This record gives sequence, C-alpha cells and structure tokens, in this order.
Amino acid sequence: MSELDLRRASSVDEALTIMRDEGRTPIAGATDLYVAAQFGTLVPRKLLDIWKLKELRTIGTAADGQTLVIGALSTYTDLMQSAVVQDRLPMLVTAARLVGGVQIQNRGTIGGNIVNGSPAGDTLPVFAAADAVVVLRSLRGERRVPFNEFYAGYRKTVIKPDELLIAVETPSIDGIQAFRKVGTRAAQAISKIAMAAVRDPKRPRIAFGSLAATVVRVPKTEAALASGNSIDEAAAVLEAEINPIDDVRSTAVYRKRVAVNLLRWFWKETAPA
Ligand SMILES: Cc1cc2nc3c(=O)[nH]c(=O)nc-3n(C[C@H](O)[C@H](O)[C@H](O)COP(=O)(O)OP(=O)(O)OC[C@H]3O[C@@H](n4cnc5c(N)ncnc54)[C@H](O)[C@@H]3O)c2cc1C
Repeated sequence: MSELDLRRASSVDEALTIMRDEGRTPIAGATDLYVAAQFGTLVPRKLLDIWKLKELRTIGTAADGQTLVIGALSTYTDLMQSAVVQDRLPMLVTAARLVGGVQIQNRGTIGGNIVNGSPAGDTLPVFAAADAVVVLRSLRGERRVPFNEFYAGYRKTVIKPDELLIAVETPSIDGIQAFRKVGTRAAQAISKIAMAAVRDPKRPRIAFGSLAATVVRVPKTEAALASGNSIDEAAAVLEAEINPIDDVRSTAVYRKRVAVNLLRWFWKETAPA
C-alpha cells in the first residue's frame, strides 16, 4: 500500500489534465481499489483521488425534465436519500440498500461500481434494464455510450484511460420496476444472481447480473412477454436463452433455476390487480 503514488484533483478539468499528462487512474470511494491493493492485484500504482469533486456528486433531472442524471460520485447512501431517485428509479434504491454494509454504502460510488465492471455489481442490472446512458468525458470531449454497449467482456469496458465517467443518464420509465438479489444470506453478500426488471406494458425489460461475464439483457424472453405469451412460455424461453457461468459462487444449474424463479416472482408481483 505504501508504494502507491496518490495525487488529488480539485476540479474535473484538473483531473482530466492530470489523467492525460500523467496517466493516473482515478480512485473514488476506493472500496474496490483498496481490496485489489490489499490482495496485490492492483496494477496501476499512480492514482488520482477524485473523491472531493463535488460536481460529480449531484443528482437531478436534465433540461428536458424527464431524464434522470446521477453524478458518478453519488454513493449508495446518496441514492437512498434522493427523492428524485426514489420517484424515478426505485429499483436503484432497492439495489443500493442491498449493497454491502453502511460503511460501503457511504463510500462506494455508482461510477466505481460501473467502471469496476464486476458482473456481480448490483447497480449494473438496474442500468441495463433502465436503458441508461453513460456520460464519459476527457480533454478530447464528451461522449455518451448506451449502458448496454459499455462492457466489452469480463471486467472490460469501452472507457479510455484518459476518460472519467461523469454521470449516468436514465430516460423516464413506464411501468413497475423491481430488483432482487440472491446471495448466500440476506445482507452483506455478493450476488450469486441479481435481476432488475421493468414491467413496461409495451416493452418489458429484464436484466441479470452474475449470470454471465457481463451484465445481460434477455431479449428473447422480453419479446415473449411483450407479445403476450404466458409466464410459463416466457420461463421456457428464458431457460433456453441463458447459459449461466459456473464459478466459485454458484453452479450454472443453480443460476438457471434461480433466474427462472426470479422471472416468475417478478411477473406475479407486478401483475395488474
Ligand atoms: C466489504 C465490501 C462489500 C461490498 N459489497 C458490494 C455489494 O453488495 N454489491 C456491489 O455491487 N458491490 C459491492 N462491493 C464493491 C464496491 O463497494 C462497489 O463496486 C463500489 O460501488 C465501488 O465504488 P468505489 O467508488 O469505491 O470505486 P473505487 O474502488 O474507487 O474504483 C473502482 C474502479 O472504478 C474506477 N473509477 C471509479 N470512479 C470512476 C470514474 N468516475 N470514472 C472512471 N473510473 C472510475 C477506478 O479507477 C477503479 O478501476 C463491496 C466491496 C466491499 C469492500
């Protein structure tokens, strides 16, 4: 740990300049990076502390009054306390409540969760189901990447070394939202599988975390639900559509069974009265 070389930025522009000129890696809440440092797996030694960049810690709506804009440094506690997130994206509040313990909720940021790119990251299925857009900025300019195109493979993202994740934008959502996480216990567990879903009457959306190398949507299952198939038919489509990973946290067989159970739970819970 003592070998780490740390600088601190006091503005986004300064951070971007340092990243370009010195090739430093941003560090936000450090809840993922310090674990890597502890285990000796942290590759970058030159880090840039962005924790104090208040402009990245805002939550609000865009000029259109519809799009929810969440700054990258928003913590899980910020999300839980935000009236606009509770109103527009309640599944994100549910996910935030289930992340780690209070200490992690106070330090962990959504930017860190997204860029860290673990398929078990709990906000990832939420942003996938919400059709979110990731805002990336460097001194070369700003670009918006659909969340569902942000991951290029296991823990691989399309972010460039000189880019900061600035915010996540979520369009307004029709329909009931749900988030469910299954771990070894009810609290403080890494997901064996997680699901975020939206019961938009025209376009139901289902996303799973911890099922594959990256967060995934299940378009065939969504199409089955959209075209009015029964939940039994949709469950059969899901079973054929997914090919879960088998790893230290869970078997593929278990994950497939739980994914189907979660889909059935979601459809029942959100059924019109
Ligand atoms: C005890 C414990 C429990 C946990 N429980 C959970 C859990 O239940 N669910 C879950 O999903 N996660 C969990 N985590 C993982 C972690 O807390 C989250 O992934 C957290 O959101 C990471 O955010 P951070 O700000 O701490 O990221 P950091 O550790 O600061 O950074 C992580 C990565 O993101 C990059 N990064 C951070 N911010 C930006 C940015 N704005 N732009 C570009 N790159 C950036 C960093 O360079 C680094 O590569 C847990 C961690 C611990 C230690």
